[in-house]
This record gives sequence, structure tokens and C-alpha cells, in this order.
Amino acid sequence: MSIRNPYRQYMYSYPHKTAYRHLTGISLKDYVSCLAGSGHSLYLHLPFCRTKCGYCNLFSVTGQHEEQIRRYLEAVRRQSLQYQELLTPYKTEFAELVIGGGTPLLLTEEQLVWMFRLLEIYFTCTVDRELVIETAPNETRPAKLEILKQAGTTRVSMGIQSFSDGELKTLRRRHSAGRAREALDLLKKFDFPCVNVDFIYGIPGQTVVSLLDSLKEAVTFAPDEIFLYPLYVKHGAGLQKEVRDGLVLHPEEALLQYREAAAYLRSEGFRQDSMRRFVRSTQVRAYSECGFGTSLALGCGGRSYLGNLHFCTPYAITRADCLAQLQAFEQREDFTEITHGILLTDEELKRRYVIRHLLIRPGLLLSRYEESFGSSAMEDFPILEEWEAQGYVCREGSFLTLTEAGMELSDWLGPQLMSRAVIGKMEEWERMYQ
Ligand code: SF4
Repeated sequence: MSIRNPYRQYMYSYPHKTAYRHLTGISLKDYVSCLAGSGHSLYLHLPFCRTKCGYCNLFSVTGQHEEQIRRYLEAVRRQSLQYQELLTPYKTEFAELVIGGGTPLLLTEEQLVWMFRLLEIYFTCTVDRELVIETAPNETRPAKLEILKQAGTTRVSMGIQSFSDGELKTLRRRHSAGRAREALDLLKKFDFPCVNVDFIYGIPGQTVVSLLDSLKEAVTFAPDEIFLYPLYVKHGAGLQKEVRDGLVLHPEEALLQYREAAAYLRSEGFRQDSMRRFVRSTQVRAYSECGFGTSLALGCGGRSYLGNLHFCTPYAITRADCLAQLQAFEQREDFTEITHGILLTDEELKRRYVIRHLLIRPGLLLSRYEESFGSSAMEDFPILEEWEAQGYVCREGSFLTLTEAGMELSDWLGPQLMSRAVIGKMEEWERMYQ
């Protein structure tokens, strides 16, 4: 079958935030028992960037200075105190702390130290907890990395996107290829347990050769993981105007670039876990059941997943809307009232489970699905049989997993698992923002 554009949507979570709506009468108190005991994730969103990348439609704002960031952190502190009071009776221990954004390292050194102290004071973690933080080449400096090291950071993730200055300019990334090299070199010298770097393909003007040049250079730094992202220019991204004015995205070229890049990384010993993730590892891939993962978000713009309740602040993409959300967050008194999100039905929970597992190796453990939901995934989702017949998925032991042909179509297959109800809400949101 020929598919004109396999890049429909990145399904990193389900349902998408644009399917969330106003909620009333819901308190975090009623859901906090989902966080009992250990094994959960705590996410802190720091929505500040120096400049806006051309493809970005994440919740982040530019032009915020030290005092504004201080006010935000103070609101996070008040939120943390309220959450701590709720979590204490449940003896919650987080197995993972993730600090994302935005550009977390835009904080001053004092603010970074204060932020880690805050997390330590208000939340309890398991002894072997993961601490993950995102950085950007321009903010990756020795003094800040020393603070990350002292805090026990286990993974640092850096968006390089390309080692070509021309491609970086097209993407409106403000770092140079030279700065990215220095930053990656520095990260490796600090010897964090895991360093991962992100690259983008499908950039107008990019070729298979230039993409491979970037990846070959990245490999010389021996990163632990490489993420390859296809370029999406969606609602609110700065490059939308250029795309409307004729900047052309070629999905068929992007697909060729993906194939060459994936083959190259595999030939270099990287294990491919998903369409985007390549892991330099000799270890056997661990199975983790992410479909029921519980995660609590701090700050403005991050998502919490507690059982069938998913919530966050309303989705905002323009600078004005993001600033309004930030202001509302800073003025909030009660952080336990949930006012925006979605309550998943059992059917949506099944969809989420299949999406979260099938698109990542080792895949969907069919027996586990049956134990959890009391029904068969193949019967609940007849499309899986069709995909098996078409060679997009196959059985590997007890797992249903993507084949190589299915893997490259992840962003086309995944959206087909969404429900009509969720698609309807997402389309309604799109229409409102046209
Ligand atoms: S892509 Fe990341 S670094 Fe770029 S503007 Fe968005 S949040 Fe900031």
C-alpha cells in the first residue's frame, strides 16, 4: 500500500491535550491514592526559553527574566507543599524525577540549587531514583552541569537537531553547530550515567547525506541514546507562516532519510526501540509496563496521569495565552482542585494501553492485556489482525510487536487507534484555533 504522508501524529501520549476540557467538582484528594507506595514519576515543567524554535508548539515562553522565573518557582513551592500534605499518608516514593520544559538550564545557578532543594524537601524518592533533565547547547555550561552532578542527575537530554548551521537556521534554533559540539563534549566529560541527544529529519533543504553527516558526528561522541524526530510544523509553530509561504516539507524524502538514518544507527550497534529511539546498549531490553504509569506534574503546562484522570493547565500555544496561564498559575491558591483534563472511560484506557505499548519494543504483551482488561486485544482491536496480515505487526513470543515496516509508519498507525470521541474533540479544538 502506498501511503502519501506517514507523518500524521506523534502518539507519545493518549489522549492528546487538545482533547482535554474544563472539569468541575474534581479534587486531587480523590485520586491521590493512585500514588500510594513507590514507583511513580514526578514531572516539573519549567516553561522558559531564550528564543522560540520554529517548530515548537510546546508550552514555553521567551523574554522572562530572573524575577519572573523566581515568582514561578515560588508558586511551584506552594504547589509542592499542598501536594506533600496529600501524599504523606500514602507513603509515596517517586522512582523518577523528570525536569523538562522549556529550557530548565535557563534558571540561574542559585535557582537551580533552590529547585533541587525544593524537590528534596517536599518529595520522597526511592534510593535508586532516576533524575532526568533536559538541556540546550547554549545553556550547557560547566557550573550548571556541576549542580546537576551534585543533585545526582542520571540522564541529561540535549536537543542538537543538526550539526549543519544552515539546517539549524531553517529550524530557528539559536545555537550553532560549533556550540553543540562543545556542549556535547562537556556533557560527556561530566560522565552522566546517560546522555541522550535529539536530531531532526525532514528539514527543508536537508538531504540523506547531510543527515548522516550529523549522525556520524554525533556517534563520535558516544551518546548513550539518539532520538530521531521527523519535523512537524503544527498549530502555533513559528514556521507555519514559512510553510504557508512555500517552505516545503517533503514526507517522502523524510521517510527515505529515516530509513537511511535508522539503518546507519543500527549498523553502529544502536538498538532501535521505537521509530524515534535508538539505544547504545549491550543490555537486554527491559520490559516496563508504561500503559498504567502514574505521573504527577508540578508547575504550569505539565501533565498528570492518575488512573483514569489526566489533567493539566489548558493547552496554550501563543505567547499571550501561555503568559495568561502562567499568571493564573502564580495566582492560584488551591492547587488540589482539578479544572482541566479528561476522565478516561474503560475503552479509552484500553486504547491508551495498546498505543503506549505497541509503538515501543518489545511491544504489547497480549496475555497482560487480557489479565488487565478481561478481554482479548486482538478482538477489541480488529485492526491489529489487519496490520498483522499486512506485515506491520508480528508475534514475537507473547508480544505483538511492530515489524520494521510498521515501525517506520508509527505516526500513521498510532493515530488509527484513537477513538472517534477523542478525534472529534481534537478536531473541535483545531477548528477553534484556525
Ligand atoms: S523546542 Fe524546546 S528549546 Fe525550542 S522553544 Fe520549544 S521548548 Fe524551547
